[in-house]
Amino acid sequence: MSLFGPSPAARVLIDGPNELVFDYAIPEGMNPMPGCRVKVPLRNRNSTGTVLDVIDNDQDLGFSLRPLSSLIDEEPLVTPKLMELGHWMAKYYNAPMEQIMRALLPESVRQELHSEKTRKVVVLANKPDEEAAAKLAKRAPKQSLIISLLEAAGGEMALADLGGSSITSSIKSLAKAGYITTKDEAVRRDPDQGEEFLQDEPLKLNDEQEVGLEIITKTIDDGGKPILLHGVTGAGKTEVYLQATQHVINQGKSALILVPEIALTPQTVQRFKSRFANIGDAVAVLHSNLSQGERFDEWHRIRKGEARIVIGARSAVFAPLYKLGLIIVDEEHENTYKQEVAPRYHGRDMAVLRAHFEKCAVVLGSATPSLESYQNYLAEKYQLVELKKRADDQSMPIIRIIDMRIESHKHKGAILSDALRGRMDNKLEKGEQIILFLNRRGFARSLQCPACGHVCECNHCAVPLTYHRAEERLICHICGHQAIVPKNCPECNDPAIRLQGYGTEKVEGVLQKLFPRAKVARIDADAMRKKNALKNTLTAFRQKKIDIIIGTQMIAKGLHFPNVTLVGILNADLGLHIPDFRAGERTFQLLTQVAGRAGRGELEGEVIVQTFTPHSPSIQFARHHDFNGYADQELEFRSQFGYPPFTHCALLGTRSSHERRAEFTLENIHQRLAKNLPEGIYLGEPLPAALTKAHGQYRFQLMLRSPSARLLSNYVNKILTATPPPEDVTIVFDMDAMGF
Ligand code: ADP
Ligand code: ZN
Repeated sequence: MSLFGPSPAARVLIDGPNELVFDYAIPEGMNPMPGCRVKVPLRNRNSTGTVLDVIDNDQDLGFSLRPLSSLIDEEPLVTPKLMELGHWMAKYYNAPMEQIMRALLPESVRQELHSEKTRKVVVLANKPDEEAAAKLAKRAPKQSLIISLLEAAGGEMALADLGGSSITSSIKSLAKAGYITTKDEAVRRDPDQGEEFLQDEPLKLNDEQEVGLEIITKTIDDGGKPILLHGVTGAGKTEVYLQATQHVINQGKSALILVPEIALTPQTVQRFKSRFANIGDAVAVLHSNLSQGERFDEWHRIRKGEARIVIGARSAVFAPLYKLGLIIVDEEHENTYKQEVAPRYHGRDMAVLRAHFEKCAVVLGSATPSLESYQNYLAEKYQLVELKKRADDQSMPIIRIIDMRIESHKHKGAILSDALRGRMDNKLEKGEQIILFLNRRGFARSLQCPACGHVCECNHCAVPLTYHRAEERLICHICGHQAIVPKNCPECNDPAIRLQGYGTEKVEGVLQKLFPRAKVARIDADAMRKKNALKNTLTAFRQKKIDIIIGTQMIAKGLHFPNVTLVGILNADLGLHIPDFRAGERTFQLLTQVAGRAGRGELEGEVIVQTFTPHSPSIQFARHHDFNGYADQELEFRSQFGYPPFTHCALLGTRSSHERRAEFTLENIHQRLAKNLPEGIYLGEPLPAALTKAHGQYRFQLMLRSPSARLLSNYVNKILTATPPPEDVTIVFDMDAMGF
């Protein structure tokens, strides 16, 4: 301890797979802020790490702390606000800081795996005088040409543009004579590769949009609660986002726009790029296809304040923007915002929290708000903006429900009802376009034996294998395991084993047979594997080179095609009858979103929904475009049974290649949790997970619920810390879990 009171110390998280945190003394004159990267001595070598905190080192430890070796960056790499968010996440999600840091800093930035890419630039230093120039022209025409090219270019040119390695000796001579110098210049790895975007002008807002924008800009200027923007499909939410973004850009601040998935929302990105084409490089798009180098560059561009508008998926919520004025979460209800590997954060919730720390506005937009966000509005934690009409007064599509139980009596195993087929004929005749939706890829669902009932399952995951015709294989949709299609039933050897159910690939074939003159395209993860396949198919569809698209949820989001007048939902029941309390909510969202693709132009749209359970509430309310009605009755049910949004629901699981040990460990934890269980926590029974085995690991889980997330998280943390699992068992804790 120094004479002048406690000396500060730096608490440092060491880089590496394990959570190692040590305190170091801060040498005189060094100013390591939280979020700074540092070099530190660790045992007898040097390590790198990140400063988590600067603390008062006032305890007499009986030994003195080793000092930090050096500071890697003067400015913190992780901004102080993000550091604050990180600490909060660690507590809430019960995740070690090491995991949190991996979310806050991309690997390439943290490890400095990549550096800035540079190129050689030739600079005209001293122009040769007339006499020298004449001499040069005669004796060394190549050198003379380089001088004139440099002059014409204003004194500087990239070496590559001048001729690259073919002029090395000329460059050397010119440099020796003192005419030129060379330098290294940083170049940005541009993910768009110079693609040009035409500037587009703001639209004149309609009355509802005007009111909405006013509430948002007022919140940007004066502060205020988070805003839930509930706008029907086609209401023009994006235009409101664009103008709100313009507002913060005008104030010299930055904006962060989160979308569910970049690849599936090309139109949103396009519109931001076009609207802000005048400040072109100010828009950075963060998506999963960026190379490590591109990610490194984009990250630093954002950190330096060169990029002021960031569009990205979930992980972009941690983009190191400063002077944030606005965060937008588009399609806030989407499950893709939840990260399914540790740290298991929810991107939407982190957006709201970050906005709170940054004191900036946050807008959550959707045509089908999550019940969590809607309940926050009801509880007066959020403001509400409603866009009830479509942007230029187009009407909402008419939705018809077809009872497939009756239809199947008419034609056994029918995929298209008579009604849908009739409407398709009609639309095709008029040259209008059709989207069919089926949330299952592949050719058929599973292989089932009608004699003994045996279903071919994946050995690793205990789920039915899916038949894929192109590969002539059975494929597991969980782990990717492939199996040969058996000729006879593996159980009873009956040759009648046959395909059950159907997927997009089968429908594509059926459509080609039924409508031989129509051009059919399929959009699903299988068909769109090639780079740009999705973009190209959507462009062809826009140019009306395709009449019918059959697709999975890849086509459910945000697409806008004015000539689509018919949307068919082939099997609305998929996903409805599964053991998950959110199944109904998801079905309602999916139907509403898919139906919203119809009638987004001059022409009126219609939707046909085929179902075996026509009276289920999620189908009926979606049919009447009645979000409030659906939300009210669903919230009633959730409140009655103590489900989210009235409680926080967490999954605690064990995984191991030893079935018994995974099960036993969870039973043990369960017993300890049950003992002295605090009031306000509901503890469920340990059970095999719905997916009992995946990637060769057995999975058991139990559900915990509590109105207080903090109480739940703290209690679980206390018990887990006191009960370390056996070495070959992994513990998984998923706060606010989305899949069950
Ligand atoms: P949402 O995201 O709410 O489903 P979009 O933002 O895709 O809706 O808007 C649907 C269509 O309406 C787009 O073509 C858009 O250009 C157009 N649009 C939006 N606002 C206006 C407006 N004020 N006037 C005219 N057209 C508009
Ligand atoms: Zn599998």
